[in-house]
Amino acid sequence: MCEFCHKHGEGKKWYLQAQNYSEDLLGDLRRRRFIQGFIDDPEYFRQALRKIEGLRRLPSYVRAVITPIAVNRQKRVHYGQVVPIEEIERIFDFVNSVTRLPCMCRQALLGSEQRYCYALSMVPHEQSRLIEVVRAVDASYLTGPDTGGLEALSKEEALASLRTLETKGLCHTVWTFITPFIGAICNCDRSDCVAMRATVNLDYRMMFPAEYAAEINPDLCNGCRQCMRVCQFGAMEYSIAQERVTIDPRRCYGCGICRASCTKNAIVLDERSSVPLAAHVW
Ligand code: SF4
Ligand code: SF4
Repeated sequence: MCEFCHKHGEGKKWYLQAQNYSEDLLGDLRRRRFIQGFIDDPEYFRQALRKIEGLRRLPSYVRAVITPIAVNRQKRVHYGQVVPIEEIERIFDFVNSVTRLPCMCRQALLGSEQRYCYALSMVPHEQSRLIEVVRAVDASYLTGPDTGGLEALSKEEALASLRTLETKGLCHTVWTFITPFIGAICNCDRSDCVAMRATVNLDYRMMFPAEYAAEINPDLCNGCRQCMRVCQFGAMEYSIAQERVTIDPRRCYGCGICRASCTKNAIVLDERSSVPLAAHVW
């Protein structure tokens, strides 16, 4: 179990605890203001990325002091954890509405509205305070050519859409808005997601591995390398001698998206705690 499960999950997976999605938590005015500011400020993500890039230019001894402080703050305020699709399905079993939204990272980095984020709520769509907050600041945010406003999806529709995103190589993550409140599922990749760029390319942790790590059955793998195309974390290698792909469990984030591209069903996810090389890598 990761530190978030210990802190916010009462010993279970913290993102499967319904109270972490509750409207009670969202009733906190500080949290609502944070979400509002976050959506309302198109510069937020660009500035965050610039600050993180700036950290890289500092002398290493200064970076070694500042980075852990900044990452700890990130954990208290806004961070993501990778979650495989079957766990998303379990989340959908207890939330009462799923609403597709434009992705704020893509808005900031690409300047276009693309719907890759899914707001979660414990009450039906129309009564959700989260949707109220988004709607209150949506003037410029919901009018682009690629958006259809705030789309209420059935859980089946949402799940089908997330499965499609998996085949394109996007990795599912849950996000806090002042921890431990979880407000959304995002679908990330290294090029367009600020958090994944910071985590994977800039060594600044905004996103943490799943409770799982993947493993390949060498007897089923034919070495086609389709899975390597979608791994966002550089965890897979092709062995010329064995003509097989292998996974480095220390680098695997346990997203499970590689499974969607494997026609041989050679890849499975194991509980991270049962994989010796990954058990203590968070
Ligand atoms: S996609 Fe499946 S069969 Fe192909 S290399 Fe990856 S694990 Fe092996
Ligand atoms: S190897 Fe690990 S990190 Fe890479 S796609 Fe598969 S589950 Fe995700």
